[in-house]
Amino acid sequence: MAQNDQEDLLKLNLDEIGEKIRSCTRCHLSETRTNAVPGEGSPNSEILFVGEGPGEQEDKQGRPFVGRAGNKLTEILNSVAIDRKDVFITNVVKCRPPKNREPKPEESEACLPYLEAQIAEINPEIIVTLGNTATKALLNNDQGITKVRGTFYNWRGNIQVLPMYHPSYLLRYPSKEKGSPKYQTWKDIKKAKESLKSQ
Ligand code: URA
Repeated sequence: MAQNDQEDLLKLNLDEIGEKIRSCTRCHLSETRTNAVPGEGSPNSEILFVGEGPGEQEDKQGRPFVGRAGNKLTEILNSVAIDRKDVFITNVVKCRPPKNREPKPEESEACLPYLEAQIAEINPEIIVTLGNTATKALLNNDQGITKVRGTFYNWRGNIQVLPMYHPSYLLRYPSKEKGSPKYQTWKDIKKAKESLKSQ
């Protein structure tokens, strides 16, 4: 994205960024999408949740995390009394990759300025990255999610990034035993909530 375009994006409010995303044709994902999915939630959220990209249901409805993984995310939030509508939820890529494949590097790169603009506008205390794709998009880390989850990483000075497992991963590993991905995720979301200044 040209420097000027990025600067223009940074002047927009969340709704305006959403409109730009809905009409975006920066990469090939725009050719196969039904709806782009800018994200939704509170513009004043202290926590921003970032997933990988829309799935089938999200593409149909134009809303993030509304399928099975979305139900799981809602459950994770509710486990520490966070209401979905009080936080902002989005993805690295805003259009569904065909057959839910991982976004290609050039697709993430083309879309990243939108996430950057959303972060600048919301200015959250914490960004929770859900899974490897979102974590790598922001932290450029080499280690996988199993190693980095549950640890705060400073992001550009004033925002903390907390990687967690992606909710889809938890759908595959339903055990709640101590040490299981679900148990670790519950610990991580508790940690996120407890670290908020408003707590
Ligand atoms: N998985 C994601 O990463 N994002 C969604 O919006 C839905 C499923």
